[in-house]
Amino acid sequence: MNGNLKLALQKKGRLTEKSLELLRLCGMEVENYSERLVVSVRNFPLDILFLRDDDIPEYVQDGVADIGIVGENVIYEKQTNTPVLEKLGFGRCSLLFAYPENKELKKLEDVNGKTIATTYPKILKDFLKSNNLNAKVIELSGSVEIAPSLGVADLICDIVSTGNTLMMNKLKKSFKVFDSEAVLISAETTLKDEKKNEYLTDLRRRIRSVMTAHSSKYLMMNIPKNSLDKIIGIIPSLKSPTVLHLAEKDMLAVHAVIPSDKFWHIIDDLKAAGASGILLLPIENLIQ
Ligand code: ATP
Ligand code: ZN
Repeated sequence: MNGNLKLALQKKGRLTEKSLELLRLCGMEVENYSERLVVSVRNFPLDILFLRDDDIPEYVQDGVADIGIVGENVIYEKQTNTPVLEKLGFGRCSLLFAYPENKELKKLEDVNGKTIATTYPKILKDFLKSNNLNAKVIELSGSVEIAPSLGVADLICDIVSTGNTLMMNKLKKSFKVFDSEAVLISAETTLKDEKKNEYLTDLRRRIRSVMTAHSSKYLMMNIPKNSLDKIIGIIPSLKSPTVLHLAEKDMLAVHAVIPSDKFWHIIDDLKAAGASGILLLPIENLIQ
């Protein structure tokens, strides 16, 4: 027991690299982790435990780890008492019904009386119940997509992000059951430990800063002086834009932090208002 905050991450899988990248963006120097169960962070009181994602909620609940990064789908399915502290914006996927291509699922009620194979029986049963549907749920531990062709189930309820696996198994996407992304969870006890809570507060502040920074960009441009009001009206700035004088008398430089996804919506308007030399730069951290 070294008093460090213990963070559980997926050992090898879809969340591993993204989780480590987030930590690095938070300024954490993570040692080379390959094939090790526990790795320390050089410049922060944090130890990382590498586990199977399915085990993370329980390990966190039991206090083996203080906090963890895992998909919402896994926490919901495991029903652990592990509060979600932050949504992390990666590992997005959906739990969907998928149906053999040669059959039809026109409305949700058509699942009544059917047999559904899934690795998420808890989420699926809750969904059926809250929609007053009656279907038989078969729990499988993997390769759910082959169940219809084996005649084990009429349809499946599985995690889908691209749909390639479905296509290969002649299944098509149907109604959505649950949306998921990676989240930071903790145990109730972590929040009560004064020292650990202090480390956690620091970590969460860094995570939020990285996340806002990633969804924002730094926009720079030169504009004719007389179009300043018009340009300011176009920019969806988080704060008041910075306006700078240029050596050229009738021109100004305007800088602003904008939401990344707005850039392509405003570019034509900016140009029409006379903006030139438009630059869009990434932001590493943004403290608000
Ligand atoms: P483990 O060996 O740790 O049990 P796994 O095979 O259960 O790994 P992965 O396939 O690596 O898990 O997925 C980890 C998490 O990534 C999922 O629980 C889910 O939250 C998320 N995810 C994002 N996209 C997808 C996808 N296309 N398919 C499955 N999971 C996805
Ligand atoms: Zn798993």
